[in-house]
Amino acid sequence: MERILISACLVGQKVRYDGEDSKTGQERIERWHQEGRLVAVCPEVAGGLGVPRPAAEIVGGDGQDVLDGDGRLVTEEGEDVTDAFVSGAQHALKVARKHQIRLAVLKSKSPSCGARQIYDGSFTGVRRDGMGVTAALLRRNGIAVFNEGELDEAARVLQRLEDVG
Ligand code: SF4
Repeated sequence: MERILISACLVGQKVRYDGEDSKTGQERIERWHQEGRLVAVCPEVAGGLGVPRPAAEIVGGDGQDVLDGDGRLVTEEGEDVTDAFVSGAQHALKVARKHQIRLAVLKSKSPSCGARQIYDGSFTGVRRDGMGVTAALLRRNGIAVFNEGELDEAARVLQRLEDVG
C-alpha cells in the first residue's frame, strides 16, 4: 500500500508553534487515516524545537535557499533556528525513505511544510511564493508534495502511483 507523509498538525497533533493543531476534518484525510496510509511527522519538533515555540520565518529566500545555505530561519526576536529546521527536514526525509514514501501532504504556508507559499520574513503576515524547508528537501528527493488545499491533486498522484506500482 502506498503511504503518505503528512504534517502531524493536520491529523490533530498539537505541535504547532502556538501549541495548537491544524486538523481540517477533511473526509479524504480521514479515509487515508482509516486505510492506514498516513505517516505523521512534525519537522520542527523532530528538529528539536519545543511546543509552544517562537514563530519563525525564512529570511533571504525560501526553503530552497535555506538548503543551499543562502537563506536562514529566524524568530521574531532574531534567534537563528536554521539548524533545527534543516535537521527536521532531514528527519522527515529519513522517515519518508524508511516507508518508501513518494507522496506528501503538508500544511500550507509553514516555513517547514509550505509547498506553494510562505511568509516573507518580515513578520507582517505578508506571503510570498516559495516552499518551506521540508517541502523543498522532499521535492529535491523526488517526492510529490502538496498542501491540504490540494487533496484532489494528491489523490490523482496517489492513484497513479498505485496504478504503476
Ligand atoms: S512544522 Fe509542519 S507539521 Fe510541524 S506544526 Fe509546523 S506545519 Fe505542522
